[in-house]
Amino acid sequence: MISRRNFIKYTSGSTGLLLSGCYNKSFNSKSAHVVIIGGGYAGATAAKTIRMLDPMIKVTLIEPKTQYISCPGSNWVFAGLKAIDSLSFGYQNLSKHYGVKLIHDRVTDINPAKHLITLSNQQAIHYDRLIVSPGIDFKWDNIEGHDESSSHIIAHAWKAGTQTTLLNNQLKAMPDGGTVIICAPPNPFRCPPGPYERASMIAHYLKRHKPKSKILIIDPKSQFSKQALFIDGWERHYGYGTNNSMIKWLSVPDNPVIRVDVKNKIVETDFGDLFKADVLNYIPTQKAGYIAEITGLTNASGWCPIKHKTSESTLLSDIHVIGDAAIYSPLPKSAFAANSEAKMCAFAIVNLLNGTELIEPTWINTCYSLITENHGISINMVYKLDEQEKLIKVNGAGGVSKRLDKDSLALEAFYAKQWFDRISTDSFD
Ligand SMILES: Cc1cc2nc3c(=O)[nH]c(=O)nc-3n(C[C@H](O)[C@H](O)[C@H](O)COP(=O)(O)OP(=O)(O)OC[C@H]3O[C@@H](n4cnc5c(N)ncnc54)[C@H](O)[C@@H]3O)c2cc1C
Repeated sequence: MISRRNFIKYTSGSTGLLLSGCYNKSFNSKSAHVVIIGGGYAGATAAKTIRMLDPMIKVTLIEPKTQYISCPGSNWVFAGLKAIDSLSFGYQNLSKHYGVKLIHDRVTDINPAKHLITLSNQQAIHYDRLIVSPGIDFKWDNIEGHDESSSHIIAHAWKAGTQTTLLNNQLKAMPDGGTVIICAPPNPFRCPPGPYERASMIAHYLKRHKPKSKILIIDPKSQFSKQALFIDGWERHYGYGTNNSMIKWLSVPDNPVIRVDVKNKIVETDFGDLFKADVLNYIPTQKAGYIAEITGLTNASGWCPIKHKTSESTLLSDIHVIGDAAIYSPLPKSAFAANSEAKMCAFAIVNLLNGTELIEPTWINTCYSLITENHGISINMVYKLDEQEKLIKVNGAGGVSKRLDKDSLALEAFYAKQWFDRISTDSFD
């Protein structure tokens, strides 16, 4: 018979493992309380996984929204390949199938000395271990002329929901022959291939409905994720590199955007170059979610440093940070990585609460992007700790799409859609 200790040890070796089914009540550990702040891909997965590994541990998930709206898949809305409603997930199954206690409220404070969090209604809740997974927030004061209030006019659409709809409506209202400008953010940011998939999905829409229109990506970086694959796709479908290209990528590392004229949708770079948009999608510089920042979990970078073996904060003890908010580099800030980090964190917390040996964690990331409905590309990688417990890529594992014939790319597009269904089920059901 396999003991719980060995179950934890063996199953954790495979981060590809997708946990499913109801929890097993046969475990018998001391009662402990894990509180999780934020029910995104990271927090929801951690809540479910802890309960599956050890149902004696009480888990409370705190998330203001009753419906989570997924960023993965949200770029597909612009191409008409997905409806915004199909990106929504409720939390009922986490409570029904796994016994996770749900509180729909916002955490306003953490008191690490007393092991307490405070909700917006002033209620205080005690934790033994706390997981902080609030995703990202934006550095609104980074450029002139643009702040949080501007995002009601200039959509970032980097948190899915009303922002996605706003940008989509603007694209639909734009006349043929208009210019869409996407201002990509500097590293590190949520979803490194995201701006380039967005350009592809907008081009997919424009090519059919407004073929005289153009897309300009203004980028503070000199290279980007899956660049060769994106460029190959843009050449095949959107005339990239020709005089009639629908997409132009303008890399301005020495000459970044410093000012946005919100009213006139004009972007100005450091050298005084002006670019006028009909639809402007300015994606601001990013940092860890606000609650992490105000409670001392972030360092000067704006992100949360952690010990990767347990994802425990290096700044505050008994608090673990996972998902986009944490410094997990070289893992990218992706939903797949957040799901993988959550599983490893869950194993560590169960081990720590039971006084059992910590497992050797490994992580996986796979990220699909669509260039057209039938042209998908992907990148994947496996990660582990080296002897100094530094997070590294596993040599020889992973890579990017290699087979670029039409059938293989169509298969990748099919996998991309399957991946979305699988990761959302794995995290929220
Ligand atoms: C356009 C776009 C496309 C993307 N596509 C992909 C893709 O194809 N594949 C992929 O792997 N990744 C993709 N991503 C990245 C992915 O969305 C993120 O990496 C992922 O959502 C991170 O999960 P998270 O749980 O850390 O954060 P989130 O999903 O943002 O969840 C954080 C949660 O915390 C809650 N929260 C915040 N503060 C508090 C508080 N004080 N109290 C309580 N709750 C709080 C929020 O309400 C939120 O629900 C994409 C991102 C974008 C923007």
